[in-house]
Amino acid sequence: MNESNRSWHERAAQLKIDGRALIGGKRVDAIDGAHFDCISPVDGRKLADVARCAEKDIDAAVASARGAFEDRRWAGTAPAARKRILIRFAELLLENRDELALTETLDMGKPIAASRATDVNAAANTLRWYGEAIDKVYDEIAPTAENSLALITREPVGVVGAIVPWNYPMLMAAWKIAPALATGNSVVLKPSEKSPLTALRLGELALAAGLPEGVLNVVPGYGHEAGQALALHNDVDCIAFTGSTRVGKQIMQYSGQTNLKRAWTELGGKSPLIVCADVAYLDRAVDAAIGSIFYNQGESCNAPSRLLIERPIKDMFLERALARVADYAPGDPLEARTTMGALVDDVQLQTVMRYIDAGVSEGARLLVGGDRARVDSGGFYVQPTIFDEVRNDMSIAREEIFGPVLSVLAFDDVAEAVRTANATPYGLQASIWTRDISKAHKVARALRAGTVHVNQYDEDDITVPFGGYKQSGNGRDKSLHALDKYTELKTTWIRLD
Ligand code: NAD
Repeated sequence: MNESNRSWHERAAQLKIDGRALIGGKRVDAIDGAHFDCISPVDGRKLADVARCAEKDIDAAVASARGAFEDRRWAGTAPAARKRILIRFAELLLENRDELALTETLDMGKPIAASRATDVNAAANTLRWYGEAIDKVYDEIAPTAENSLALITREPVGVVGAIVPWNYPMLMAAWKIAPALATGNSVVLKPSEKSPLTALRLGELALAAGLPEGVLNVVPGYGHEAGQALALHNDVDCIAFTGSTRVGKQIMQYSGQTNLKRAWTELGGKSPLIVCADVAYLDRAVDAAIGSIFYNQGESCNAPSRLLIERPIKDMFLERALARVADYAPGDPLEARTTMGALVDDVQLQTVMRYIDAGVSEGARLLVGGDRARVDSGGFYVQPTIFDEVRNDMSIAREEIFGPVLSVLAFDDVAEAVRTANATPYGLQASIWTRDISKAHKVARALRAGTVHVNQYDEDDITVPFGGYKQSGNGRDKSLHALDKYTELKTTWIRLD
């Protein structure tokens, strides 16, 4: 074990974790005292007891958020004051970078280098960006007749319930809470039961930054208990959900069954990456195809899990791709050089292994991987896996696997590639690689996805909206467009004569 490796393991052994909920500015146990074991996917050991919040705890958290909203302790502050607190909140994330990164890695299994350099930075940047933006957003005056004035203003929706997944726990939480808080709402955040720890720390850091008590509440717990109670709650005005399409559909139903709260969903994907024979940057395309599916162990909603290659270059492309797979050998997530860590838990491991078995039995050709890795570690690791000769009707091409599994499909002309790319219930992201500018534009228009990349895959910035077409969800996270989710538009008519 080298020195930096030892120090992350040593720090892990000394890490103090508080698994209690945060309600009304106080760390509290679940009202009935229930808790669940938080297990590390790195080695299978228990990290903490975490409060198992359920209906009564959700009632308390929503009441706290409602009280904070009604007395205007946050909604009534000037945008410039909210800006200062959100920027301080962002700074505190960076000041606590090592602890947050370590907690994220232990809780979720991703490599420490990624947690440290990407997740903490991106979450802090999100908070800072919305803080900086909010005192620069103006309302409108409508072009009405001279004897009246019509003001079009934005108001916070009120109490926002945010339900987030386990794959980027801190960042997905930041994508919700930053625009919701910037616009003056109160929030009840429900992290995934599989990775609840950094969300709890975010709640504490928000208080330390000066956010008034009760404005941000964090309630860990299971989806069918805490999540469902929050999404069904009649005093929640808006539910902002990121997770699977299956649960996203339930979220919309809960809204319809109760108070028609605004329901925003960021859901799954089965994103295509199309490489044409006239690709200009072949090695860049190989890097993007391999790097983007294996980053974060393949547990990314926008991972390009379907690689569509024009037949004449397929073998050459795959030869180069296979040469890159060794760069993603699963390793100890606490080792600084590791590029692929552990899957989040045993359930996810079994799901991924089932899809690999299905790929083999449905007749796809296993090119590399296909097995567990680091089986003696106590954690949950899978080899980077590539299937060739996949047809779009196979389950490994149709369904979101959410693991390091790439399905390769050949195509003969670009129209066929577009048909195959769009033949999915999902529409989150897509990519086209070609040197022909008009082909690139035509295909980009034809692809039914919230984000289309040309000659790249994972360029990303907080300034651009992110979200899906079709069953990948509705609404957008990131950019100023996200403010639409957390504000009501009000028209005020004033008679002047
Ligand atoms: P999931 O749907 O199982 O769970 C997401 C959250 O919903 C968790 O907090 C969970 O506890 C909660 N939940 C589960 N059942 C619930 C219920 N009945 N009522 C209310 N809440 C409930 O998803 P997951 O496995 O945590 O995350 C992986 C999924 O998230 C993938 O499908 C991935 O594509 C998607 N995702 C999408 C985006 C995006 O921006 N589009 C980003 C990240 C992840």
